[in-house]
Amino acid sequence: NSGTPRGATIVQGTEIEVNEVEQSYIMIKPDGVQRGLVGEIISRFEKKGFVLKGLKLFQCPKDLAQEHYKDLKEKPFFPKLIDYITSGPVVCMAWEGDGVVASARKLIGATNPLQAEPGTIRGDLAVQTGRNVVHGSDSPDNGKREIALWFKEGELCQWESVQTPWLIE
Ligand code: ADP
Repeated sequence: NSGTPRGATIVQGTEIEVNEVEQSYIMIKPDGVQRGLVGEIISRFEKKGFVLKGLKLFQCPKDLAQEHYKDLKEKPFFPKLIDYITSGPVVCMAWEGDGVVASARKLIGATNPLQAEPGTIRGDLAVQTGRNVVHGSDSPDNGKREIALWFKEGELCQWESVQTPWLIE
């Protein structure tokens, strides 16, 4: 694969093979935006070495929030969760890199910020599960699903970071 840009389409004979790099949907929730934590949170993923492929500030409609959290719709806190996510703008992001999904979950920390380790985003910046400042996809498949849900075609940028050869041998 040397010489092939990461994420590029490789044409082999008549078959087209897409060399996909893992992506995670990361979202700064309305409390993170209101509390002025946007720069801080973005900078943790940048410094780690992941590559930002999509970014927008967005006021989320109710039906999109319900679709995003559809696996939780039977939970007692579901209506409050939908009110919370739609209560102000969120920052939608697509981050790319090998192992980004699991690594981002570690950087974010446990769902309950009081149980999140110091050094994690929730461990450092939040105190309550209902105001835990950031979302991160829980599997590569959900990363794809959520990025397709929150971004329209043309909103993601295809670009190569000059840092990549200094991050990956
Ligand atoms: P995570 O965001 O860590 O993947 P979950 O998928 O379990 O966690 O839950 C999604 C979101 O729902 C949480 O981040 C949080 O905002 C909210 N949530 C989960 N559990 C509760 C709860 N017991 N009370 C209020 N909100 C909750």
